[in-house]
Amino acid sequence: MMNNQGRPTNTSSVKNVSNIYETFTGSQGLSQAEGLIYEIGDTERTGVDFKEVNDFKSALGGMERTNEIGLAGLTEPEVMRHYTRLSRKNFAIDLGLYPLGSCTMKHNPRLNEKMARLSGLGDIHPLQPISTTQGALDLIDTLAHWLKTMTGMPAVAMSPKAGAHGELCGLMTIRAALEAKGDARSIVLAPESAHGTNPATASLCGYRVKPIPATEDGRVDLEAMKEALGPDVAAIMVTNPNTCGLFEREIIEIADAVHAVGGYFYCDGANFNAIVGKVRPGDLGVDAMHINLHKTFSTPHGGGGPGAGPVVLSEALAPFAPMPYVIAGEENFELIEHDPTGKSFGRMTAFHGQMGMFIRALSYMMSHGADGLAKVAEDSVLNANYVLASLKDIMSASFEGPCMHEALFDDRFLKDTGISTLDFAKAMIDEGYHPMTMYFPLVVHGAMLIEPTESESKQSVDQFIGMMRHLVEKAKAGEIERFTGAPHFAPLKRLDETGAARNPVLRWRANEGEE
Ligand SMILES: *Cc1c(COP(=O)(O)O)cnc(C)c1O
Repeated sequence: MMNNQGRPTNTSSVKNVSNIYETFTGSQGLSQAEGLIYEIGDTERTGVDFKEVNDFKSALGGMERTNEIGLAGLTEPEVMRHYTRLSRKNFAIDLGLYPLGSCTMKHNPRLNEKMARLSGLGDIHPLQPISTTQGALDLIDTLAHWLKTMTGMPAVAMSPKAGAHGELCGLMTIRAALEAKGDARSIVLAPESAHGTNPATASLCGYRVKPIPATEDGRVDLEAMKEALGPDVAAIMVTNPNTCGLFEREIIEIADAVHAVGGYFYCDGANFNAIVGKVRPGDLGVDAMHINLHKTFSTPHGGGGPGAGPVVLSEALAPFAPMPYVIAGEENFELIEHDPTGKSFGRMTAFHGQMGMFIRALSYMMSHGADGLAKVAEDSVLNANYVLASLKDIMSASFEGPCMHEALFDDRFLKDTGISTLDFAKAMIDEGYHPMTMYFPLVVHGAMLIEPTESESKQSVDQFIGMMRHLVEKAKAGEIERFTGAPHFAPLKRLDETGAARNPVLRWRANEGEE
């Protein structure tokens, strides 16, 4: 809230963290305090001057809004400052190493941005006549070609808009294929280390999820998996490399076993970064796999932009894929919006997918080339192993041996310090780093999953390692306050994360705002 001098008062949205003295504005140096947009601009004014309209006649035939729209009125500079100030409170890959395991937070080359802004691509609309968007359809078709080539799979559904959406697409395709055979099944198997979206997707599709335990060395327990298999199993969902950062060595046996009972092998391809250009999932017996373009093929990620999760499919599953799809006809590219065979399970999105991400991903692929993409995998694995090797003497590595593109530690090294994984992560914020992925995967206690990605230089990884070693030493030396009180230097302290998740307040309400 603002008082009448325009100075933010100490409400939940603005907190002064200085322990020296409070500033008049609530800002701290170049870190400006900022209220909610409704607190800056009220609904009674507007940032633009309109002339009074005489003789106004609505053309909406009685459908026009009758109540106030209730939006905050701000001028352009106020809007610019609001969002710029907020953006400076955020962490971003453009600010520093972002070791969020399983998320592949890599640099998004600016060439991608330049390509996405070409007016022939950036300024078109999906409802334009097809004759005027041939270049865009060509681009979708070319990207599809490379995705199929890299994965060794014959078909791809381009429209899913995230990894989780891709999983949904894959399982709906599998369900449609099974139902077409009159073979409705009720179970999906998922390893205990699976990303939460895997069981969530299976359950959203109406399947019962049966968890498969992990072996001592962090991989799918093949024997336990075989025992869980039966004629009622529709699919197994396996991530490879898995979320412990390890390659599933028995992946072909897993595929063969599920095929032997008439089920399908869904591969969660979120970790494709570790094997791109090296391994073709089609050669491993995969039937369907989503690819997070926003992970493996750069492009903005998470809060930075929309995702894209195309799903590569086997010959058997291809006819059941969602609409629409692009085909290269005799003379033109065509958009097939109505399934001529009646087998497709339907449509998942309004248009053809995340065009902006398609452009960036293709730009990334073409600028790297086949050799460059293989190098991506090699360097991402190298960087992760460098982190693992440099920290395992003082932190507790969860599994023996080298890792793939991410290094997994657990909280055994913090035993008897009174410091938890969460406390440790908060202290990393004070050091200027986004924390690693915490408490995931669930198969180890107090997990810390670190993925540096290949786009970090040795200097940058060395500084990260130095910072981690410093914190571990402080933790072991008993400097508890540094951790349990962290973050000391962030604009906001510990938030009630559980409360925010259980009771999200997603809408500003005038009355509550006045309180
Ligand atoms: C990121 C991720 C997903 C989900 O992808 P989104 O694009 O975030 O929906 C699924 N599985 C794994 C292993 C992931 O890392």
